[in-house]
Amino acid sequence: MAGRLNKRELLRRTLSATGGIKALESLPVWNGLLVLNYHRIGTPTDPLFDEALWSATQDDFDRQVRILKDGFDVIGLSELPDAMRDLQGAGRQPWKSSRFAMITFDDGYVDNYELAYPVLKANDATGVFFVATGFIDEPRLAWWDEIAWMIRSSTRDTIGLPENWLDEPQKLDGSDRRQVINRLLRIYYRLDGCRTTQFLDGIADATGSGRAPKEAADGQWMTWEMIREMSDGGMDFGAHTVTHPILANLTADEQGMEICESRLRLEKQLDRPITSLSYPVGKRESFNDDTRAALSNHGFDWGFSYYGGHSSGVDVDRYDIPRVAIESDVSMADFRSCCALPHVFARH
Ligand SMILES: [Zn+2]
Repeated sequence: MAGRLNKRELLRRTLSATGGIKALESLPVWNGLLVLNYHRIGTPTDPLFDEALWSATQDDFDRQVRILKDGFDVIGLSELPDAMRDLQGAGRQPWKSSRFAMITFDDGYVDNYELAYPVLKANDATGVFFVATGFIDEPRLAWWDEIAWMIRSSTRDTIGLPENWLDEPQKLDGSDRRQVINRLLRIYYRLDGCRTTQFLDGIADATGSGRAPKEAADGQWMTWEMIREMSDGGMDFGAHTVTHPILANLTADEQGMEICESRLRLEKQLDRPITSLSYPVGKRESFNDDTRAALSNHGFDWGFSYYGGHSSGVDVDRYDIPRVAIESDVSMADFRSCCALPHVFARH
């Protein structure tokens, strides 16, 4: 949050300014699994979309993958059970260390294929891609991009929504509409699944922008052809539901449908078993016991969250494997700190 430094951020800045990150990196290595989560690679192509999702430029991503390859065993989904056994002291495979990293991507943006895949291939690293199958089958803007699109396209000075959503009108006259977008996203996170369309329609009316046309998503998502090529090229895939709802806001039956359908669709396209899923949004409150039951009923081995942290490999909750956000505000110094000392720096 701007203007407020917590202790961790102060520590990181001090380390960065004093060359302390090098000292951090020379500390004895920790053991465990660090799972990083990216969304988009490159630089924002359209200022109307949610720019927070651009995780790194292609060059920075390349640097990050090299750092991981130097200091970790970078693993894919198929190696995860062995890595966990190793961390529990029962491993047989000769790993470089007992320090594992996974490089994961969520959603299915086209730059995953165009920019991330070549870097991963060149560095001989497996990436794990969690795809929302509805975006591939029927390309349209995802709700977070559509909210950004509607707010940024608006020619109005203020917008108001019914009081149960927004207690006061929001000014759009400043150059930074980011705060309004973030406020609306936070409301969306809490909405019952049956209210989300009504909410988006309400924003469409209030902004005067209307709902985003289908063409706004042209060229934004990977195609099945790209995904198959990556799968054949050694990349791993997992489910991320069909429509990217916040699962905890759905009924148990609806959750089951989203989870099962996305798995079947991926298995049909890739002709390989899909046994992992990452939770849309992935906060602690974004999934619940019904989600876990659905994963278990549909034969999933692993569920990945997205609120920070790393795994020691002991007492593992297989339906809550922690992941660290690599978003647009993560510098190379942040990245190196996180790899060197995830206990402190593996944040959301
Ligand atoms: Zn997602």
